[in-house]
Amino acid sequence: MTDCIFCKIVRGEIPAKVAYEDDDFIAFHDIAPAAPVHLLLIPKQHIASLADLREEHRDLMGKMLLLAPKLAAEHGAGNGFKTLFNTGKDGGQVVFHLHMHIIGGPRPWTNAQLIG
Ligand code: AMP
Ligand code: ZN
Repeated sequence: MTDCIFCKIVRGEIPAKVAYEDDDFIAFHDIAPAAPVHLLLIPKQHIASLADLREEHRDLMGKMLLLAPKLAAEHGAGNGFKTLFNTGKDGGQVVFHLHMHIIGGPRPWTNAQLIG
């Protein structure tokens, strides 16, 4: 997708503070963090949302779930974190490239903005 902001991050066309990268995924720090640790983990492949997943994505999504606690621990959220997939307009999704929010770090921090 040429006009997708997260595809542009994957291609290195716009800057991001990259926390992790492999053949299938990239994780970067959210530009507006809701907590001390706020990563976005995305597949490099453009998939618009959870609602667009197909059987062919089963392994990819399994890998994504396995990566989450590893990245959380490596980036300062080893004592616990939230994961969030906003899906669709009414789900509050703003960027239509599937992404997992990984949110945590030492409390106190508010989570009020996470439900917007
Ligand atoms: P969502 O509501 O789940 O679609 O959230 C999209 C998230 O992407 C928001 O938390 C934004 O702060 C974040 N975001 C948007 N543009 C960028 C960017 N260029 N770099 C990092 N994070 C971004
Ligand atoms: Zn994309």
